[in-house]
Amino acid sequence: MRVYLSFTFCQQNSMADDVSLDEEGIRKWMEKSLDMAHDALFNGEVPVGCLMVYKDEVIGKGRNCVNETRNATRHAEMVAIDEVIGWCEKSNQVKEAVFSKTVLYVTVEPCIMCAGALRLLHVPLVVYGCSNERFGGCGSVLNVHKDDIDNHGKPFKCISGIFAEEAIALLKDFYKGQNPNAPNPKIKPEKKPESLKMPKPADISNTQLHNTCTRDSSHTALK
Ligand SMILES: [Zn+2]
Repeated sequence: MRVYLSFTFCQQNSMADDVSLDEEGIRKWMEKSLDMAHDALFNGEVPVGCLMVYKDEVIGKGRNCVNETRNATRHAEMVAIDEVIGWCEKSNQVKEAVFSKTVLYVTVEPCIMCAGALRLLHVPLVVYGCSNERFGGCGSVLNVHKDDIDNHGKPFKCISGIFAEEAIALLKDFYKGQNPNAPNPKIKPEKKPESLKMPKPADISNTQLHNTCTRDSSHTALK
């Protein structure tokens, strides 16, 4: 697997105050996040995977399970957040203190919902792969991560572009239907007028991919 570590920060500040990272650690955790995304793909979900790391220990991990649960909020990040809460309860740790020193590694830029949750939990730093042109809350659609928003947690820093090409390749595989477990297009032929044709797989792929993630991560990168 090729390695891309020409990352920089969404904000021009140095590393988040409460955490420290090195290239080796970033590579290691992002590769494991990609493994989670592969697992999502294998299970017919949009391939996004993540880890939450506290003091060099994975205390939460997640991958999309929206289709499996039929719950549109079950994004990888929300699944991982729930795991962290469970870990805190089990190990008798204060949630606020743990989240404020936890780094999220995720293959795709967090959406607006997840970015809002991360703000409210005071997660200081997010490392992600490719941008999310359609739903991204860390610069692509809204700047949830850094805007001044009263009573909505704390801004957080981002590092973007880590294994971005690999993350995009997984999304392409999903929307091209190369995964045998990927869901079929949600079209019910019996209810469609005869004059309407089924779209070709290539058309679905191009449209959805464009809407999801085609923007190069360099828009936030300061190489
Ligand atoms: Zn999300």
